[in-house]
Amino acid sequence: MPQFPGTIKSKLPKVGTTIFTTMTALANEDNAINLSQGFPDFEVNDKLKSLVTQYINTNNNQYAPMAGVAKLRESIAEKIEKLYSTNYNPDTEITITAGGTMALYSAISAIVNDGDEVVIFTPAYDSYTPAVQLNGGIPIYIPLKAADFSIPWDMVKKFINHRTRLIILNNPHNPTGATLSEDDVKQLQHILQGTEIMVLSDEVYEHLVFDGKQHESICRYPALAERSFVVFSFGKTYNATGWKVGYCVAPEILMKEFRKVHQYQTFSVNTPMQLALADYMEENSAYLQLAAFYEEKRNFFLRQLSGSKFDIKPAKGTYFQLLGYQNISEEKDTDLAIRLIKEFGVAAIPVSVFYHKPFDSKYLRFCFAKENNTLTQAAERLLKFAS
Ligand code: PMP
Ligand code: GLN
Repeated sequence: MPQFPGTIKSKLPKVGTTIFTTMTALANEDNAINLSQGFPDFEVNDKLKSLVTQYINTNNNQYAPMAGVAKLRESIAEKIEKLYSTNYNPDTEITITAGGTMALYSAISAIVNDGDEVVIFTPAYDSYTPAVQLNGGIPIYIPLKAADFSIPWDMVKKFINHRTRLIILNNPHNPTGATLSEDDVKQLQHILQGTEIMVLSDEVYEHLVFDGKQHESICRYPALAERSFVVFSFGKTYNATGWKVGYCVAPEILMKEFRKVHQYQTFSVNTPMQLALADYMEENSAYLQLAAFYEEKRNFFLRQLSGSKFDIKPAKGTYFQLLGYQNISEEKDTDLAIRLIKEFGVAAIPVSVFYHKPFDSKYLRFCFAKENNTLTQAAERLLKFAS
């Protein structure tokens, strides 16, 4: 192929291929057990699969409405009302997106202008910073507290000013597994009172909150919901990360701007899966059982690792577990992640990649959304490194 003869002024000069793509490719190359990229190794429910094929075979294969299939938006409104006691109008306040990723991107594009400051807590999920920068925004990084990855609200107070447009929250939090408490949300509410700062709350792991705690969705808090985009993902809820269907909810005035962007970024999301998800959502047992299911997975994985030298604080949410290795090795986490694949046959994500500058993390992130025998085999290999 002849090459472009000019120079390209990259909009994202520092960005390479995502860590998830990189680690999964390395895991596949070396035939390692892949606990790096977050996806389940078990299947989508048969009923949900047959609903999708049914809708394809009954010729529901043309464009869906721009905002999403009406029945699906209605089901989402009912679900949020039931879980978080807040009413979103399905016609004007809910939009179906191509995964949580697109919802995040559309929300950021819709409201971040040149020079706007956007608060991002680190470590941070990898898609936030590029989305802010592509839209001319300036990320303002605030590190989570070292001991428990909670938000330092006193620092937030210091960092916000008249240029602050948006605060991005991720609850439950990837990669640390931390969750927000009611007190956290109230502190945020207090800090934002009287300002015009908006919130983008990434809640794709809403159903993965453990140890009897409730998910403190921003949707529960009217004084925050009125200024927030809240993002969810069917990929996480129904073990279907490859379907890339998610949604965003926001008050009408914000959703109007969101849809202006959404209609040109993607226009609409695939029809048969939306129809299938709408039917499947009638049964709420699938998502209500998720917390217990994944809590048991977390416990199972950690039981296999008991007695190891890893520093382990059980994840409070998500399907990721951090393992600290400061008592075992001095290596950089990026080096260790590669050595674990090559020498021990297990792939994980080094946590330093979730920071904007070099960071000595000494943590690796492991995805436990896996069959028990996958977790057992992975733990046996990890014990060879950590005993
Ligand atoms: N936010 C977080 C915190 C995630 O971990 C992910 C993906 N796993 C997403 C957003 C994106 O969700 P989706 O796969 O639905 O695009
Ligand atoms: N969210 C998933 C994770 O954290 C990966 C998503 C992706 O590969 N972009 O592992």
